[in-house]
Amino acid sequence: MSPPDGGEVRVFAQYERDFREQADVVVVGSGPCGAVVCHEIARAGHSVVLLEEGPPFRPDDFEIDAGRSMARTMREAGLRTTRGTIMPTMQAICLGGGSLVNSAICVRPPQFVFDDWSTRFELEQTTREQLDPHFDAVEALVGVGPTPENVQGKRNLLFKQACDALGYDSEPMPRNVVGCRGSGECFTGCRSRAKQSVDISVVPAAIRAGARVLTSVQVQRVLTEGVRATGVEGQVVEPFTGRRGHRFRVDAKVVVLAAGCMATPVLLQKSGDLANRSGQVGRNLQFHPGVAIAGIFPEPLDPQFGATQGYHSLQFLEEGFKLETLWAPAAVLAVRTPGFGYELQDRFAELDSFAVWDAIASCHHSVGTVKARRGSNLDPILTWKFHPDDLPVLVNALWVLARLFFAAGAKKIVSGVQRLPYEMHSLEEAEVLRSGRVRPSDLVFGANHAFCSTRMHGDSGKGVVDELGRCHDYDNLYLADTGIFPRCTAVNPMLTGMALARRQAHAIVDRL
Ligand SMILES: Cc1cc2nc3c(=O)[nH]c(=O)nc-3n(C[C@H](O)[C@H](O)[C@H](O)COP(=O)(O)OP(=O)(O)OC[C@H]3O[C@@H](n4cnc5c(N)ncnc54)[C@H](O)[C@@H]3O)c2cc1C
Ligand code: SF4
Repeated sequence: MSPPDGGEVRVFAQYERDFREQADVVVVGSGPCGAVVCHEIARAGHSVVLLEEGPPFRPDDFEIDAGRSMARTMREAGLRTTRGTIMPTMQAICLGGGSLVNSAICVRPPQFVFDDWSTRFELEQTTREQLDPHFDAVEALVGVGPTPENVQGKRNLLFKQACDALGYDSEPMPRNVVGCRGSGECFTGCRSRAKQSVDISVVPAAIRAGARVLTSVQVQRVLTEGVRATGVEGQVVEPFTGRRGHRFRVDAKVVVLAAGCMATPVLLQKSGDLANRSGQVGRNLQFHPGVAIAGIFPEPLDPQFGATQGYHSLQFLEEGFKLETLWAPAAVLAVRTPGFGYELQDRFAELDSFAVWDAIASCHHSVGTVKARRGSNLDPILTWKFHPDDLPVLVNALWVLARLFFAAGAKKIVSGVQRLPYEMHSLEEAEVLRSGRVRPSDLVFGANHAFCSTRMHGDSGKGVVDELGRCHDYDNLYLADTGIFPRCTAVNPMLTGMALARRQAHAIVDRL
């Protein structure tokens, strides 16, 4: 593995012995949130070390075969699932975290989300108005702009036409992408370096400002003395095998855990159940479960061309779901398509006329937990239960998607809902989607948006951190990933995580 463009990053081959570092601030995790904290601290002139368990990737390192790609960039090779209700969920392991493999969608949550957060969780300073300057700054940092028309491709533009026909709002997806070529490969890594994932945008900027960035280092424990964190320790790990080697320790005045909402609770639990006086560490885990429908059109759509996710509609946010276009490698689509052998082959013979549109849902009733395993494995045990009260949101979303497809001229749709006809050829046939026959266990869903496992709350008895991300029980221990959201964002979470992280970094700087 070689370091990414524009910065010096320490990589696996460079660790020859145990080592110890010192800094004002140590940040664990180089995803969107950790990278932003690191950048702001460095920019303010303080010494900062960013620690990342995964390796850096360059364009030549990306595999376009989905299986090989997931085995390299995702934890548990992309096969992580929840227990209880079984649902796949993916977290990345690489410099840049989720931003390397995600679709780069950057959306600010609507006002009602912040109204809900601030009243329900006693977070007076977490209003949209107060966060807007931080949203402005992080959008500028990672080059957020609308997806241009010339790289939308037919499958994205048909969604817009359908929304127009039904009178729904829609807009080109705002993404942190500059010079998109419409290759539809965001999931396996952007080989043209158009996607401004934080490994090529924020991390190099942090390095230019003086940050030290160490990859292939797994933090295993937070070190403390009394109510103060003093640093972290762990081991060097070999990329892709996870084999552990040299030990390291970083001493710091402030410790920031930004390891992602599945890993930060595990780190706290493995460090002696730290920061858990409220009992909320690892609880309240929420997702945006997503459902998708494939529409098959009478003419070829050349779906391989087009921004991975180019158009969306915010029309139904208050009803609990967001509509999007979506593309994924054929192997990932196949996993979600019923049938085997010749049957599956026949279905995929029509792939050239496919469009896939999805809905991500705010499922407030469905919550779960993150727990550390026994032993030294840091992969979490995830439990999550889909609550029947969230079913109407997803059923309504499926119905709206069906309406959109037929309004766009699809000759048939594949809903993926178990026990219903595999193919539906008209809106009349699709009525079955809202007939009351759909049960939670019939839905095929997945969720890569995860949050709330170390939630913020103004009341120290009800949350793990305050609204500036500082642990209620520890003076200088901060958490900065989507785990601190008190509830879901209704829209794609990355940008919100980055805006909160920026605000938090400024609070840390004020106290250094
Ligand atoms: C396929 C996919 C598509 C998505 N699409 C979008 C999208 O388009 N828009 C959007 O808003 N959101 C999207 N998301 C979600 C988004 O990527 C995440 O919400 C976001 O990355 C969370 O950022 P984070 O900084 O909280 O954590 P992460 O991005 O998970 O980063 C945490 C980092 O910490 C590292 N780490 C963990 N444990 C340790 C340890 N012990 N020691 C050292 N390092 C450690 C991890 O390796 C990782 O790099 C998508 C996610 C996926 C998987
Ligand atoms: S669609 Fe292709 S070119 Fe555009 S950002 Fe995604 S991977 Fe890069």
